[in-house]
Amino acid sequence: MRCGRLGLGLGFCLLAGVGLCILWMYVENLLPVSYVPYYLPCPEIFNMKLQYKGEKPFQSLAQSQYPQPKLLEQRPTELLTLTPWLAPIVSEGTFNPELLQHMYQPLNLTIGLTVFAVGKYTCFVQRFLESAEEFFMQGYQVHYYIFTDNPVAIPHVPLSPSRLLSIIPIQGYSHWEEISTRRMETISQHIATRAHREVDYLFCLDVDMVFRNPWGAETLGDLVAAIHPGYYAVSRQQFPYERRHVSTAFVADSEGDFYYGGAVFGGRVASVYEFTRGCHMAILADKANGIMAAWQEESHLNRRFISHKPSKVLSPEYIWDDKKPQPPSLKLIRFSTLDKDTYWLRS
Ligand code: UDP
Ligand code: MN
Repeated sequence: MRCGRLGLGLGFCLLAGVGLCILWMYVENLLPVSYVPYYLPCPEIFNMKLQYKGEKPFQSLAQSQYPQPKLLEQRPTELLTLTPWLAPIVSEGTFNPELLQHMYQPLNLTIGLTVFAVGKYTCFVQRFLESAEEFFMQGYQVHYYIFTDNPVAIPHVPLSPSRLLSIIPIQGYSHWEEISTRRMETISQHIATRAHREVDYLFCLDVDMVFRNPWGAETLGDLVAAIHPGYYAVSRQQFPYERRHVSTAFVADSEGDFYYGGAVFGGRVASVYEFTRGCHMAILADKANGIMAAWQEESHLNRRFISHKPSKVLSPEYIWDDKKPQPPSLKLIRFSTLDKDTYWLRS
């Protein structure tokens, strides 16, 4: 008798519990906000690495100290060709374009290229695309992805056969810093939802630039960074890294290889995914703590390249600035920033 009542009671409790769970699952979906508990991430976790014994030698990179590699170390007119971690530094004269073409062409690769043209920056698209058609990955399949808040403002530029263009509508933001910084998030989402199926390699470039000379298979690599034209001849202490400890992009005076430009990076599509996702997470953590890094996503990109070294480094000829005279150490300018009216663009 007692056992029967106990059983009945237990059965009722079980039924009521299941019923409440189902009700909560239903109500939760209707709620305008999610009740998943969260906390503000602490910046340190992004730069902390476990010290492995042996099997994972690169994990402790963030803590190691070593001399800064200098691009102009050899002779003033000759650039360094190899990083201390054995990644090639690509510049004119270090490779044979015909040989590379012969090696890479049979692989039937598709190269993706992302650019953002939000607000007034749509005015750069025409020149960007025309110059890319002339110089970027000639002879390969290319897929341009143009992210914009105003698709009708994207001009029609005739493309060679085997080259595609997709216009991807995105939300605009009122602050230029936000537009620029959001690129990491948008690119990683775009790779996950689409680009990983469409391209083998992906380059992510600024739109306020033009190609001036051939950019070919020499730039292909697992993870590719480009040395910023403003800082290739200065010591790492002078690099404009984020220096506040509270930011996830913090870099100590004793760290850093090259200062890389945020206007050019790329690599195998899966690696670019990991890279942009990592940067985006760090940016989110800063945001949660009310911080915008000194040079926005460029600061996060530089932080990440210290612990996740690029497998190939492009010399500043791939990211030049037209306001600067061409130094004797650069034989060729391949891709460079247009002189622009920043005040008008950002107003
Ligand atoms: N951008 C944009 N609209 C804006 C601001 C930035 O489309 O209002 C995109 C655009 O692709 C641009 C990139 O973000 O090339 C980086 O911004 P910007 O070129 O102004 O930065 P800078 O090269 O001057 O550091
Ligand atoms: Mn730019």
